[in-house]
Amino acid sequence: MENCLFCKIIAGDIPSTKVYEDDDVYAFRDIAPQAPTHVLVIPKRHVASVAACGELSDAAIAACLRACGKVAEAEGLTVKGFRVVSNCGDDACQSVHHLHFHVLGGRKMGEQMA
Ligand code: AMP
Repeated sequence: MENCLFCKIIAGDIPSTKVYEDDDVYAFRDIAPQAPTHVLVIPKRHVASVAACGELSDAAIAACLRACGKVAEAEGLTVKGFRVVSNCGDDACQSVHHLHFHVLGGRKMGEQMA
């Protein structure tokens, strides 16, 4: 989608540090990491958020979640654990309106999720 930051990253028009890619998914390091490992997993097809997941195929949604697990495994997070977060809308402070899953790990997370 025009004027979408993450669509531009997928297209290679804005640089990113890729950690994983397949037919449906692109994953790259967050530019402002909030944990020792902070990777963003995004569908290549533009949808705004989890609330718009109905616009994605079941296979594409599954690919995103599978990719979160693959990234966590590749980053060495599966032994001690990790967190997957997807902010959706203003109350959740979503700042980029292209569905994305934050994969966070490498330290003990806070017990509060919000
Ligand atoms: P959210 O606030 O949940 O919408 O998350 C958006 C995330 O995108 C934030 O964690 C930002 O740090 C991250 N971000 C913004 N611009 C870039 C960029 N050019 N490359 C990588 N991550 C980015």
